[in-house]
Amino acid sequence: MTKKWGLLAVVAFGLYVVAMYFYFFYSQNSGIPAALKGTAADPSTFLTAQELVLSEDLSKIRNFLFFIAAPLEWLLYFAILITGISHFFERWSQQKWAIWRNAMYVFLLSVLLFVLQFPLDYYKYTLSKSYGISTQLFSSWMRDNVIDFWLDFGMTVIMVTVLYWLIKKSPKRWWFYAWTLTVPFSLFLMFIQPVVIDPIYNDFSPLQDKALETKILSLAEQADIPSEHVYEVNMSEKTNALNAYVTGIGENSRIVLWDTTLNRLTDEEILFIMAHEMGHYVVKDIYLNIAVYLTMTLIGLWLIAKIMPWMIGRYGSLLKIKQMSNIHSLPLFLLISSFLVFFSSPLSNAVSRYQEVRADEYAMELVENPEAAVSTFQQLTKSGLSEVNPSALVKWFRYSHPPMLERINKVADQVEEE
Ligand SMILES: [Zn+2]
Repeated sequence: MTKKWGLLAVVAFGLYVVAMYFYFFYSQNSGIPAALKGTAADPSTFLTAQELVLSEDLSKIRNFLFFIAAPLEWLLYFAILITGISHFFERWSQQKWAIWRNAMYVFLLSVLLFVLQFPLDYYKYTLSKSYGISTQLFSSWMRDNVIDFWLDFGMTVIMVTVLYWLIKKSPKRWWFYAWTLTVPFSLFLMFIQPVVIDPIYNDFSPLQDKALETKILSLAEQADIPSEHVYEVNMSEKTNALNAYVTGIGENSRIVLWDTTLNRLTDEEILFIMAHEMGHYVVKDIYLNIAVYLTMTLIGLWLIAKIMPWMIGRYGSLLKIKQMSNIHSLPLFLLISSFLVFFSSPLSNAVSRYQEVRADEYAMELVENPEAAVSTFQQLTKSGLSEVNPSALVKWFRYSHPPMLERINKVADQVEEE
């Protein structure tokens, strides 16, 4: 039975890959609507011919890889279960204390997943490098991977230990208790993120350019924002892409600008970006994000509590899971979670796009400089070779920001109105 199901899963995945390949490389035609040809939103007016070709090619490959990566992850979890690897890992992790047992098991599972997923990750890195977006040395990229691995490992061990203890103690209501613990845990993580976690990866400092700082401070004063919240981060050793974001909660909340943004944009453009970030800050988007995240986690845990016992009852012998409360069921837990996260991403992306539209509108009101807005959006497109008008499928699953075609078109209207 294992062989039959294993083969079935591999064939299904193979067919899916072929279908996605044809969708992205042969059938998809997301050009520019005729009405927008030649306007500021048309990439052929602001990208060179070469950049245009590169951005089209790169977008196809990236979209294809994105839609392959999640199902590949599910296939790996499935394989780890039906081949009995998960069982071996549990047997090798016999320890007296649950936390050591879980740590051993999670370590073995994480190493295996890291190794299996490494080729795809490495390919993505070399791809980004060959298109001139990533500037990161292999050693630095590997260092980031190793940090990711250990942070993930530490966090997973803690969460898994609490989770499986709850499942054992309360098979019916563990999902709710787990969720109530998620609330303070996520808030704590968000609180320490900008001061503890982010600095492990990159160097942060208060904004260096004092003349620019003065301009930003007066803008911040207009928006009623405490001034010590503007930071820059050294990203030019890693990427050519431009970015800025708002992070953290409470005392630790701050606006962060990548140094690439500071190096390549004019002061007017940077002020527009700052105004956009202030827009997020002023309406406290981060708290809406927390609310959405916690609601989705609650629903997700409840669904897992329904689906997992059902699957074990029905396919327990195939998946080689005896009891849900045994750590060897973890790959199934991860499989279902990954599945739910993937299929709920259109919803979280839609919420995010709504916030981005609102932040753009706020920025337009605050700085009243549509020309700077248009050129900022064009520069962002250029630096990341991003797709200005993706297909609906790509937009729903991948776009936390409105596509540049929409963003440029919206503000370009105001350039003409003046
Ligand atoms: Zn934004």
